[in-house]
Amino acid sequence: MNLEKNVESIANPPKSGRVKVLVPRCLIRNGKDVLGAVTDKEGLLSIQVEWQDGNVTSIECLKEASKVPEEILLPRFAEPHAHIDKAFSWSRSPNFKGSYQDALAANIREYELRSEEELTNRVQKSLNLALVNGIRAIRSHIDSFGKSALRDWDLIENIRTKWQDKVFLQYVALVPLDFWQSDKGKLLAQRVASNGDLLGGVIAPPFNKIKTFKSLLNLVHLANKLNCDVDLHIDESQFCPAGGLKLLLEVLDQVENDISITCSHLSSMGLLREKEISFLANKMAKKRLKVVALPLTNSWLLGRKDRFTLTKRPLAPIFQLQKAGVDVSVGGDNVNDSWFPLSNFDPINLMSFSMPIAHLSPWERLGLSPFTWTPADLLNLKWDGLFQKGSPADFILLDSNSWVKTLSERPKRRVIVNGEFLNESLKTKNNIH
Ligand SMILES: [Zn+2]
Repeated sequence: MNLEKNVESIANPPKSGRVKVLVPRCLIRNGKDVLGAVTDKEGLLSIQVEWQDGNVTSIECLKEASKVPEEILLPRFAEPHAHIDKAFSWSRSPNFKGSYQDALAANIREYELRSEEELTNRVQKSLNLALVNGIRAIRSHIDSFGKSALRDWDLIENIRTKWQDKVFLQYVALVPLDFWQSDKGKLLAQRVASNGDLLGGVIAPPFNKIKTFKSLLNLVHLANKLNCDVDLHIDESQFCPAGGLKLLLEVLDQVENDISITCSHLSSMGLLREKEISFLANKMAKKRLKVVALPLTNSWLLGRKDRFTLTKRPLAPIFQLQKAGVDVSVGGDNVNDSWFPLSNFDPINLMSFSMPIAHLSPWERLGLSPFTWTPADLLNLKWDGLFQKGSPADFILLDSNSWVKTLSERPKRRVIVNGEFLNESLKTKNNIH
């Protein structure tokens, strides 16, 4: 593709440019900016966007229906749930059976042997891919329960500093829930909180209700004391529907909570009856709980049985949660590890594969929000990804003129970071191919 296409002034002032593009209507903050713009059947508007010094300086609508732009403009994405510490560990620690239990066992074996060099290579590879694919921020869970936990946190904090201008990183310390009651746990929590990162944990059946309730209560207390947010792997299962969520809601009935709690997965909740889903979703909205749905890993991992295809799959009930006012993001989760062998830190791929599973449509506001502004809000990013005058020139340009083509054909893309095109030399330098 001609890199100069539709870009009229890259050779001029730095961090500036002008593109004629199609943009989803719901990604424009001010309707005034696009009054009279031509809109196609998929809700894509024809506009011209101009930027200087890394910020959008004008948004104008194109009124000539005969000249439809040839590229789609999207904000760079925020990935709300990743595991960059174990990405690309499949070859070392595969899980051919594909079940949750086998994935966990393989993960633990791999974690015990994880070297500094392996961790560095995986994280760098993940970030390089994420960058060229158009991701600007990642919340990643980090295995933190072993002997190497502090070494690993030193390493990932170092990498975060190196990458701060390209990809914003936010970490969640992933440990067994009761770890936060130990002295080691309290020390780690202080470190995590002082960096603005999050406390994590896992609640999946079978679990002891009394013990788990106590651990959760302790975690919520600790998180509030440290003013540190929490992100839990909760109810990633086809058993005991919403068992973990119900416990969490009981805990929140007993304590004052001012921090943000994210429920990642929440898959088994989708197996409940509609009435109960709606009851719990309303309670979640009142408690300001947030959700990250993870359709790809859930579809691959949960409910597997030899020679038996499960047709009713556990998945967070995204629409019902949205209807109750709960923010729902969709994340990629595992990449090429024992939990999920596929995927590649590509937000467009994530949309292509998870939209059919979750019945989300890109031309609907609530279909697009879980991939765009909701994860940006979840990560507390300065910019939510809606375009307006003054917003950052942090874009992806897709060589396509429709959603259907975009999600079917893997169109070429150009990535613009802080007003500058991410050029081919960067890709070569980082060995991305
Ligand atoms: Zn996860």
